[in-house]
Formats: sequence, C-alpha cells, structure tokens
Amino acid sequence: MESIAREIKGSFHWYPVQKTFSIVSAKDTLKFAVGIPYMTRNGRTIDLSAAPELDNGHLWIAENDAKKISSKVAAVPGTKNETAQAKANETAPAKPAAKPAEQKPAQPVVVKPKAPKQEIAGTREVRTIVIDPGHGGKDPGASGKKSQEKDIVLAVAKLLRKNLADEGFNVKLTRSKDVFIELRQRAMLANQWDGDLFISLHCNAIDASEERKKIIQGYQFYVLRAPESEEDKAIARRENAVATLYGEKNAKDELSPLEWFKLEARLEQYKQTSYLFTEKLLDSFDGGKIKKMSTGVGGAGFMVLVGAMMPAVLIELGFISNEEDEAYMMSKAGQQDLADRIAQAVSKYKDAVHTYRETLGR
Ligand SMILES: [Zn+2]
Repeated sequence: MESIAREIKGSFHWYPVQKTFSIVSAKDTLKFAVGIPYMTRNGRTIDLSAAPELDNGHLWIAENDAKKISSKVAAVPGTKNETAQAKANETAPAKPAAKPAEQKPAQPVVVKPKAPKQEIAGTREVRTIVIDPGHGGKDPGASGKKSQEKDIVLAVAKLLRKNLADEGFNVKLTRSKDVFIELRQRAMLANQWDGDLFISLHCNAIDASEERKKIIQGYQFYVLRAPESEEDKAIARRENAVATLYGEKNAKDELSPLEWFKLEARLEQYKQTSYLFTEKLLDSFDGGKIKKMSTGVGGAGFMVLVGAMMPAVLIELGFISNEEDEAYMMSKAGQQDLADRIAQAVSKYKDAVHTYRETLGR
C-alpha cells in the first residue's frame, strides 16, 4: 500500500486503533480497513476482490485491486488538481510548485448551494430540534436511591420542549410519556421529522462501592465516534444494553469494525456540527450545580445516535448513582436549570450555524 501511495503521489495514513488506513491524493481520498473486502473512494463504496492484510508491519492488497486503484487514480492529469490538493493540504505530501492562479479556473469545483429544502441538517438554518428522552416503559434505565433515569430525562425533556418552543423552534419528542421505544426507532423518528439536531437525554451511573459512588459525578456530552478510552466504551455499552435486554431485533451492544467503516462517510458529514453543539453545551453548563466530568466531551458507539441523519449529541446530565447529582436532577429547580442550559446551547448553536451560512453567502 505504501508503494501504491507513492505511485499515485498520495500521502499514506495508518490508524492503528481502528486498523484502517487511507491514501489522500490530489483528487481522491481512498479508505481501507484491514480484514474488510471493500474500500471507499471519496465516500463511495467499492468492492475489493480481497480484504487488505497486515503482515510483518506492511499492508497488502490483492494485485488486481492494486492495479485498479493505481490506474484509476494515476490517470488524473496533474495540473487540474490544485483545488482538491488544497483541500487535502493538511495531510498531502510536498506538492510541486503551485501554478499561477490564472490557470485554475478550468476546475469545475464550485458547487452552487442547493435549494434550502435539500440542504443537509447542520448546514441549513436550524429549525427542528428532536429531543430524545432515553429509556421508558419497561426499560427504567439506571436507578438511583430515589429515582429512575427514565423519569428524570422525561421531565427535563418536557421543560426543554417548552423553552425551545417559546423561542420559536419546531420541537419533537421521541416520547412524551412513559413508554418503551427501541433505540433504532428513535433515530428513525428524528429522520422522519427531518430534524436539524438530535439530542438524546440520559443519566450516567456506575455500579461500584458507596465510596466510589460518592466520588464519581458530573455531566458529559457524547458524540458518535470510535471510542478512545475504556470508560467511554463502557458507557456506550451500558446505554446500548437496552437493546439486548429488551429484545430488539439484531441487537448488540457494540459496533463492529465493519459497521464503523460503513458509518465513516456519514459521521464525517455531521462531525463538525455535532462538535459545535458540544462546545455550546460546554459553555452553557459551565458554572452549574453539577460539575463537568473530565473533559466533558467523549465519543463512543451509541446505537441511538447511529441512524440519525443529522448532528447528534447524547447528554449524560449527571450521575444518578451519586446522591448530590441525583437530588439535583430530581428537583424541579434542577430540572428547569438543566433544561435552561440545554436550550441556551441550542440557541447559540442555531446562531453559530446561521453565522456560518452568512460567511458562505447563503
Ligand atoms: Zn441512559
């Protein structure tokens, strides 16, 4: 693979944790995963005759696949690729001296903005907010000494709905009663409503000694990405366990490498805006009664976020296993404060997207 990268004048990138690798050339971004018999080229899937293999510190690909890749990519004439190269410039290798600017216009790269309705969530104006109170019905979620997760998140969701509706947002709840809804169904509802932002509300919990429960507390925001720590992985597993516990079809508590790979292009589409919303949440949660847990932002394979075709964030409001956090999340004042802070973040997010659109002249 390294020699193919050289041949097509692309830069080679290896991600050891995910066992994936990519080659970024002037025109193309090719992505591969060890053990998976297909690749993506600029986000589109292409079958390979065999899965790439890792052997002796080198990555290998079947000869006919290699030929296919180098002929397709190398066939691109060099001079027309400045714009694409600029796009890939963080990772691109030393490029030949730039051509004078007048020679560039041949490249038909400028895509006219689509009509507002066809714009994807995250780039269009923010109007519809989908609030997803986690768990419900036969699934209580995590339990504290005096409360259950499903009740707290529903109460906060309803207050948040009121706040956002008052500010003129179109607000949808995946559930507004104590009913059970499958994880996958929640994102499907959000897609049907053509949401601009998906907010899944949860309470964190640990199963540990009373001593530890006293120490472990705080809020945290999660986006869908490959987990980088065992803690994040464990939290996703706990939230995902709903599906296996309550008999959802094809339920599992972790995404396979293949599923991550399939998701990659879509995740890329909503990554920046999902993180943008977590930034606004970090700002508005700062100084509240419940403290921030570690960096405040984590990522893992939350099933409830997988299907959402829009920026999506899962909020762990606090630890229901911690007495202080639980008391605050149970109190009317605490619930209102949490709803106010989330609503404030949504408004700031909306403004940020609007400003971004203005800089693009939309
Ligand atoms: Zn939960």
